[in-house]
Amino acid sequence: MNKIIDLTGKEQSFDGCMACAINEGKFNFMGSDIFKGEYFSVLQDAELPIDGFVVIASNRHVEKLTELNSEEQKNLIELINKCLTALQKFGISEEYNVVLEEKAGYHFHVWLMPRAKWMIEKFGKVLKNIKPIQDYAKENMKTPENINKIKNTCELLKNELSK
Ligand SMILES: [Zn+2]
Repeated sequence: MNKIIDLTGKEQSFDGCMACAINEGKFNFMGSDIFKGEYFSVLQDAELPIDGFVVIASNRHVEKLTELNSEEQKNLIELINKCLTALQKFGISEEYNVVLEEKAGYHFHVWLMPRAKWMIEKFGKVLKNIKPIQDYAKENMKTPENINKIKNTCELLKNELSK
């Protein structure tokens, strides 16, 4: 059993791979249900109370980009583009870092990380400071106001991606 403190501050547990548990409907949190397509799902990050910090995970349990077939790869780029366009339209952030981490044993996913004003003001270079930014958010940003903002963005994105 794996345990995490979710983005709203609630302790949650799930068995095995987190992305597979979400995909099978066995693990839910605020924003875990933004979009489920044929190949990929879009969700808010489970642990980070950062507005517009979106994760795109493959529905199949693979670890590497090279394990996706060309149709899935094309679909991924289209989905990233759709999400970024929507998030920009909602005024979350003008620029994003798109991070694809491949790691043995980890379910394939892409992070869409906003280059938010507060990150740049507090930490300077965003990519270089991913870890401190994430730690700061977990520690300081689980306020009702911020959680509501994230909830609202998830709803907006849900509506936009269902079109
Ligand atoms: Zn998995």
